[in-house]
Amino acid sequence: MSTDTLDNPKINLLGLDLKALTQTMVDLGEKPFRAQQILKWIHFHSSDDFNEMTNLSKDLRHKLIEKCEIKAPTVLSEHLAKDGTRKWLFTVQGGSAVETVYIPEPERATLCISSQVGCALNCSFCHTAQQGFQRNLTSAEVIGQLWYVVKTLKKEGVFKAIDRPVTNVVMMGMGEPLLNFDNVVMAINLMLDDLAYGLSKRRVTLSTSGVVPGIDNLAKVTDIALAVSLHAPNDTLRTELVPINKKYPIQVLLEACKRYLKDDKRRRITMEYVMLKGINDKPEHAYELIRVLKDVPSKVNLIPFNPFFGTKYERSDEKTINHFQDILMEAGLVTMKRKTRGDDIDAACGQLAGKVQDRTQRSLKFKQSIELNSKTENIQQM
Ligand code: SAH
Repeated sequence: MSTDTLDNPKINLLGLDLKALTQTMVDLGEKPFRAQQILKWIHFHSSDDFNEMTNLSKDLRHKLIEKCEIKAPTVLSEHLAKDGTRKWLFTVQGGSAVETVYIPEPERATLCISSQVGCALNCSFCHTAQQGFQRNLTSAEVIGQLWYVVKTLKKEGVFKAIDRPVTNVVMMGMGEPLLNFDNVVMAINLMLDDLAYGLSKRRVTLSTSGVVPGIDNLAKVTDIALAVSLHAPNDTLRTELVPINKKYPIQVLLEACKRYLKDDKRRRITMEYVMLKGINDKPEHAYELIRVLKDVPSKVNLIPFNPFFGTKYERSDEKTINHFQDILMEAGLVTMKRKTRGDDIDAACGQLAGKVQDRTQRSLKFKQSIELNSKTENIQQM
């Protein structure tokens, strides 16, 4: 359940999918079909005001006002890049920040959302990893990112060229979505529900560092698009870059990928491959990758590394990336290069939230030092 904390007994309806909301209505002594009406108000009409829900009786509206709430994370700051990419920093319960990035293109508009505050997986090239793991986002905080952005863009009316403000969602923000399984699945259910956002399964992508049991569990509940952070063609290198590889090595991971596709010839797994200069970007890595992926229906997404302060890695040169791509393409592997977007607002992978956190930690340290000083003063006065 997505009730926020014990000192706030109101039920937050924002994070409940149809099944959970139906149960909540039954628990409140209401007819189950009320859930469909309320779900549509919240997500399709972007409402957070029970008074607007005019197809509900006055009595029910009063009951909902008394016992429930519709509460998204609050916006800490918003950033607009020259290329139109937008980034929001949301504060979530506990004072931390997570980020959401909106990437408009002529034919589609993609929202990249976060699933956890920080991350436990410690990938060596990822800035979020340096923040450590703080906690899972609630389902309201996960879907709340989409809810807020859709509401905002509808108000601004900026999406006229395409039929809806957000056409694609990728879970590629902060955190490992498969380690926050229940809340992420609840949010996915809402993304796909026609009463809510009505996105098609191939337009919702979950990216995982390779949590194999999570992939199998996901296959039991949905068949949305799956992206896997492969990043290396052999176990020695992959364990260095993505340490969870020690637990679930490449062959085990790729078997799970095949199981996920369930022999559906139309589906493919996206293999993400960050291009790190001199580390994993040599032609021999490309040839090894071709061998490794030969019987896994996949496409490769080459991601130019986004550097951050203190990292030992560098981005591969354009020429190296192109050559790597050519080798894969010649072998018949569909290979895309990810465009870097929003560079001027640090729209990549944990960077901005990282800065806020650094500042928060600094101010916390400052506060602690003041407290310590005043304590010492008190002690000295005694
Ligand atoms: N935990 C999920 C989602 C993470 S972010 C996962 O690991 O897939 C989405 C993608 O960005 C992942 O492929 C991740 O490895 C990659 N990434 C992380 N830091 C990066 C950086 N500094 N530059 C480029 N890609 C990065």
